[in-house]
Amino acid sequence: MNFHVLTLFPEMIEDAFSSSITGRAKEKGILTLDCVNIRDFAEEKRKGRVDDYSYGGGAGMIMQAEPVYRACVSVLDRIGGQGGRKPRVLYMSPAGSRFTQRMAEELSREDDLVFLCGHYEGIDQRVIDEVVTDEVSIGDFVLTGGELPALVMMDAISRMVPGVLSNEESAGTESFMGDGLLEYPQYSRPELWRGHQVPEILLSGNHGAVDRWRREQSLMITASKRPDLCSGAVLDKKDRKFLREAGLTKAYRDAREI
Ligand code: SAH
Repeated sequence: MNFHVLTLFPEMIEDAFSSSITGRAKEKGILTLDCVNIRDFAEEKRKGRVDDYSYGGGAGMIMQAEPVYRACVSVLDRIGGQGGRKPRVLYMSPAGSRFTQRMAEELSREDDLVFLCGHYEGIDQRVIDEVVTDEVSIGDFVLTGGELPALVMMDAISRMVPGVLSNEESAGTESFMGDGLLEYPQYSRPELWRGHQVPEILLSGNHGAVDRWRREQSLMITASKRPDLCSGAVLDKKDRKFLREAGLTKAYRDAREI
């Protein structure tokens, strides 16, 4: 997976991405990061400036179309030169589709992804119309720039790329994966911490019983913390029996059955 980031603040992306798990994957060559400073594509006479006033008035500066366009084309030419298919260009925007785990999985199957980070009041609409394939938001709030959203997305996508997580860090049972439920609670040593005991069943060595307990915890936690996720859950007979007995069937009314 090759990430390309068009930004005014490349050091912000490079520093954060080079830490921890993504940094390790980058060192191994499983992920690559190519930060392109949009300022390098400013018009000669503007000396690195790429923002200007908004036509029609209003507070705040707008990133101009031409430097963004040239920065983007420089990346696309480089990727195109390697004979790949046309890469997705993702514009980080509060007006985009909401980023989800499913989107992360889907994007992790691409070879190259281009992230376009806005700043100030945003980017001239004409270049967005020209180069962007997907507009993506990380939530209903407004940030100062697209760098953190790009990092959030790259982090979630990276975890889905084979080889990035070690076996111990496996993504298989986590929240939002597969069955659409939130994860069960987890415990580590010591067995007794400040008077709080680890649930007995986890010490039983009975793997079947542990799996069942974890599944039931997931069902209960999802119903109480995020009832909106219940309708997307995938349930089997045992789950339904448990939910009936726990009085939670209503929460899972529209869940799919397997
Ligand atoms: N004027 C814009 C906000 C600009 S914020 C509006 O009202 O919608 C500056 C930049 O930050 C945006 O161009 C975008 O790249 C990024 N950004 C801000 N909030 C974001 C969010 N929730 N998700 C993704 N990108 C965001």
